[in-house]
Amino acid sequence: MSKTEKQRVAVIGAGWAGCAAAVELAANGCRVSLFESRQIPGGRARRIVLDGKILDNGQHIFLGAYTESLRMMQKVGVNPANAFLRLPLQMCYPPQTKGMSLAAAALPAPLHLVSALVRASGLEMADKMALARFFSGARRMKWKLHEDCSVVTLLARLDQTARLYRLLWRPLCIAALNTLPEQASAQVFLSILRDSIGSKRTASDMLIPRMDLSALFPDKALAFVRQRGGKVIEGKSVRSVRQTPLGWQVDGTDFDAVVVATQADAASALLGRQADMRAFEQLAFEPIHTCYLGYTPDVKLPRAFFALEDDASSGQWGQFVFDRGSLDRASAGILAVVISASSSLSGISRQELETALARQLAAAFNMPVLAAPLWTQTVSEQQAAFICKPALVRPETQSGSPGLVFAGDYIRSNYPGTIESAVQSGIRAAACVLARNW
Ligand SMILES: Cc1cc2nc3c(=O)[nH]c(=O)nc-3n(C[C@H](O)[C@H](O)[C@H](O)COP(=O)(O)OP(=O)(O)OC[C@H]3O[C@@H](n4cnc5c(N)ncnc54)[C@H](O)[C@@H]3O)c2cc1C
Repeated sequence: MSKTEKQRVAVIGAGWAGCAAAVELAANGCRVSLFESRQIPGGRARRIVLDGKILDNGQHIFLGAYTESLRMMQKVGVNPANAFLRLPLQMCYPPQTKGMSLAAAALPAPLHLVSALVRASGLEMADKMALARFFSGARRMKWKLHEDCSVVTLLARLDQTARLYRLLWRPLCIAALNTLPEQASAQVFLSILRDSIGSKRTASDMLIPRMDLSALFPDKALAFVRQRGGKVIEGKSVRSVRQTPLGWQVDGTDFDAVVVATQADAASALLGRQADMRAFEQLAFEPIHTCYLGYTPDVKLPRAFFALEDDASSGQWGQFVFDRGSLDRASAGILAVVISASSSLSGISRQELETALARQLAAAFNMPVLAAPLWTQTVSEQQAAFICKPALVRPETQSGSPGLVFAGDYIRSNYPGTIESAVQSGIRAAACVLARNW
């Protein structure tokens, strides 16, 4: 191929990783063909339409620390200031419960945390001291462990109290890593804390989408690729990826390079023995359930979102609740309850779950109306994110075969399976293609 010829690149999968790769490649003059099996782009962070209602496949939260995701959104013309409700870091339980209320103030770091600690309610002095000990210990270690261990082991080493574990660390770990603290990598947990809480104040901000997840970036990414002469093939699964003497064929069409940006199991199925897929096959996954409960539009929560005390033994499954009406007027009266690392729900029927969640909300907020939603919808994503174990060996961007690279939230990174790790992986995959660094 001469230097003036455009590289023909197939990107398989229009999740956030594939969309980021496609945008970078198209922006740098490649002829991109983006393949997506679904009709709606976005993969595990996408819009869904249920009974005529526009919802998401799961409630998402972004962090101010997601710099690459925010940069890519801007690149395709989405203004993060309009796209998100930006809130200071917080972990607040409904005021009627025995939970806590911890919220960062609008002060420069680290004063935002110091003031949050001083003003926190529902914590004893011993908890506040333990929290301060955690952050000074983590900073002293420069947020790095010599040897990875579980989050539970790290918390025991830093002498955290039972109350902090229950109200802060456990829910934070499950929400961020989709992995229970006894199984979760302390190093990855520390990396997330370093880049958010341990960095400037805005990095720890919580960003809650005001628009559906596909509109946030994937829809605009597809338009960006088309505007630069690329093709988008939606609603059709790629069935074959084959190496040829001159490059690669995707469903019989020739390309100079391929970015496989599907889920890990789909990548293994597509490539078979053409690449070393052992690291892909070692990944295990946990589901996330999102239950939407619909009420009359006047039903509101006092904040955009709350943490909930979950207790599986008494059917209190809900971990977080979001008031979608505080994000977007058209969603007034819709609450979204999230249950991460939810494999323990496998024996529970949807109806049982939805009834239990409605009761949990009514009791937690002391609002009897919440026990009787007008409608409910539950979305369960069975492979929501990989189980982020200590010292997990994750697949690499480079496949070792010329012209073939990988992107996806499970590719090696400091982060767990998140939007930011997906986007970063897509940008890295595109850089490898552009530099022909396989
Ligand atoms: C319910 C839920 C809640 C979450 N909450 C958060 C959160 O709050 N914050 C956060 O940062 N992250 C969250 N995540 C994780 C985040 O959504 C994922 O990490 C991210 O979306 C993964 O993107 P990806 O592009 O790597 O993979 P995917 O989104 O899985 O994209 C892969 C794409 O490939 C397509 N595909 C597969 N096979 C083929 C084929 N043969 N041909 C063509 N196309 C194919 C798929 O349809 C899919 O669109 C959550 C995930 C879920 C499910």
